Amino acid sequence: MSTLKVDLDLVSKYNVPGPRYTSYPPATHFTAEVREEELLERIRTNNETQRDLSLYFHLPFCRSLCWYCGCTTVITTQQAQSARYLKYLEKEMALMGKLLNAKRKVVQLHFGGGTPTFLKPEEIRRLGTMIHSQFEFAPDAEAGVEIDPRRLTREHLVALREVGFNRASVGVQDNDPKVQRAVHRIQPFDQTRLVVDGIRSTGFKSLNLDLIYGLPHQTAASFEQTLTDVLKLNPDRLAVFSYAHVPWIKPAQKILASGALPAAEVKLQILKLTIEKLTSEGYVYIGMDHFARADDELAVAQKAKTLQRNFQGYSTHGGADIYSFGMSSISQTEACYWQNIKDLPEYYKSLDQGRLPFAKGYLSTIEDQIRRQVIMRLMCDLSLDYAAMSRYLETDFATHFAAELASLDDLEADGLVERSATGLTVTELGRLFIRNIAMRFDAYRKVQEPEPRFSKTI
Ligand code: SF4
Repeated sequence: MSTLKVDLDLVSKYNVPGPRYTSYPPATHFTAEVREEELLERIRTNNETQRDLSLYFHLPFCRSLCWYCGCTTVITTQQAQSARYLKYLEKEMALMGKLLNAKRKVVQLHFGGGTPTFLKPEEIRRLGTMIHSQFEFAPDAEAGVEIDPRRLTREHLVALREVGFNRASVGVQDNDPKVQRAVHRIQPFDQTRLVVDGIRSTGFKSLNLDLIYGLPHQTAASFEQTLTDVLKLNPDRLAVFSYAHVPWIKPAQKILASGALPAAEVKLQILKLTIEKLTSEGYVYIGMDHFARADDELAVAQKAKTLQRNFQGYSTHGGADIYSFGMSSISQTEACYWQNIKDLPEYYKSLDQGRLPFAKGYLSTIEDQIRRQVIMRLMCDLSLDYAAMSRYLETDFATHFAAELASLDDLEADGLVERSATGLTVTELGRLFIRNIAMRFDAYRKVQEPEPRFSKTI
């Protein structure tokens, strides 16, 4: 790579609000109107199978707020909060445990947040023991944890390894002190390096680094320096997220001086240079925001067309249902989604009443399930083979999606996709606009009325 030419007119044409499609339909369609009985019925039906499980635990506490943050967090310096939270996680696991088929194997575990390592090392051990005593793990299960290097001790890493964690995902975001000051997250590079050394020496199998582009004061040159720095740490994967500016949802983002935010064309230049630099260093561009070494399981799965996309981004675990625990967490089976209560006192109250803390849900129709597959294959494989899709979906793809396929003329004219009688391919340029391409297969999106609730696609 790369001969990629970025046309700034295209950027302004396609830079509209749009979903990231970590679910279909997007979580904005989940509703409190879903009847709990119906949701429970679908969960019971799901547990008549022995499909694999992917478990997610949301650990929301952070000691200070990073002003760009889009996660559901509880900002506190009171360490005692985490011990209380664990008691409620235990209650939630016991309630959900009554519905779960004990024969199902856990193939994936993830601790996200917030800051999972807000927990003290002994609390990490306690939660790990709770999980392993309730669930049966596959021998090769992957267990990943999000790590904030700023207040991490070696003891945390040792505790995480003891309870089976083998993948670490370290938040870096940007190394430039000016950017770090502007977003209220001071993290000297030496601190990141020390934590990465600790991750390696305690025996984690895989290291991912998270960066964000689109933050205040970032330029292509400043971000290139961040990339140069982090490449010295030799990560197995890199997630380079586009900053989602949604101050109407996350009011703290209003603190970011809007004049300092890079323009859409600068963001795209940063993405372009990121793709060029990382691919020239031997990483495969998986899509959207993910890069992996060519021998990494993500890259191997993409080649084999078995890659999946879910709330945790790209994943190699197709056929696993996601059961999530903790405030605000989202669970997913083939037939439904549900999200827990986002407010901590309300989450506790529900569990005190002996009720699962459902806030919202969504019951997927067969049509939703078909479209979810189409959008997922498009975003994971960057192509659609009509015959293969027809076999998989048990419906003639070209007929079912005739209107959607016919709507791609402008995307093809702009060089984002190529169509043939047998399939659709996303071009190298089209990868940058993959959300826009996926939106054409989204039945809930009105073409002329972009949803203002979403971040922009670039
Ligand atoms: S540490 Fe992570 S979750 Fe917590 S405020 Fe910062 S970005 Fe958000």
